[in-house]
Amino acid sequence: EAAKAIADSSGPGRTSDGHAVALLANVGSGKDAVAATEAEGVGLFRTELLFLDRTREPGLDEQVAAYREVFAAMAGRRVVIRTLDAGADKPLPFLHQDGEPNPALGVRGLRIARQRPDVLTTQLAAIAQAAIQTDADVWVMAPMVSTVAEAAEFAAAVHAAGLPKAGVMIEVPAAALRAEKLLGVVDFLSIGTNDLSQYTFAADRQVGTLAELLDPWQPALLQLIAACGAAGKATGKSVGVCGEAASDPALAPVLAGLGVTSLSMSARALPAVRASLAAHTLAECERLAAAVLDAEDPAQARKLVS
Ligand code: PEP
Ligand code: MG
Repeated sequence: EAAKAIADSSGPGRTSDGHAVALLANVGSGKDAVAATEAEGVGLFRTELLFLDRTREPGLDEQVAAYREVFAAMAGRRVVIRTLDAGADKPLPFLHQDGEPNPALGVRGLRIARQRPDVLTTQLAAIAQAAIQTDADVWVMAPMVSTVAEAAEFAAAVHAAGLPKAGVMIEVPAAALRAEKLLGVVDFLSIGTNDLSQYTFAADRQVGTLAELLDPWQPALLQLIAACGAAGKATGKSVGVCGEAASDPALAPVLAGLGVTSLSMSARALPAVRASLAAHTLAECERLAAAVLDAEDPAQARKLVS
């Protein structure tokens, strides 16, 4: 029993009957990755940190060094690195994007690559170089993808850089609705619930008074996650969650039951999520998932699970 308790407080994420749900860390730097000793890998490496407050794009060598720090800290483990997510809540001076009347609906995330393909090409070249210099299992994903065509273009760019594993974030309802088609052109999906909530409920993620709409227990959000989970099951491909929702211990069994195969969060949230998963069988997770999809509202969904 004591040995089992220790195994449950660290080690890989599992339901009580052994169904694996990888528990990964969200990081922004090598320092974060070194501190994420509890994690099975990195589920979201936000690369914006290197670009913030810069009037010029960081050069190839500087990017290689920054990415290598995270990859080296995760030797032998998975690192899902996200290409630059600029615009909206993450404005970057060197891209000169001011003047958009509605930046959250503007040229942000992968959309920038259509106007500035050079920025994506340089970043992918730097990721590929850093990956070769370490033995992390590097997966690359794009933010703010809306269509299968965008995903296919991105996957082609990733493969052209010599990187084998390409995926997209699900942050826009249009993408969630087409999850299975997306998995026809990429290797994995990662659901960014912060933006997926914002765009599903037309509620600015930065406006605190809209918190009720941005609640990750909203059945409409969970329904979109369910569509992605079903697509993952149908294709046998990975579907993770890397937004705030992934760090809610009570929601973890629900997400597992919806077909989510990894949860990525700030490292300090990992132990509670691990313990919550370990307290349920997969069949229980699936029952909870079906119940919350039927709930009238977030309060009822929470009550059904508690
Ligand atoms: C998200 O949108 O849920 C996400 C993980 O990305 P970010 O918070 O960096 O936009
Ligand atoms: Mg996002």
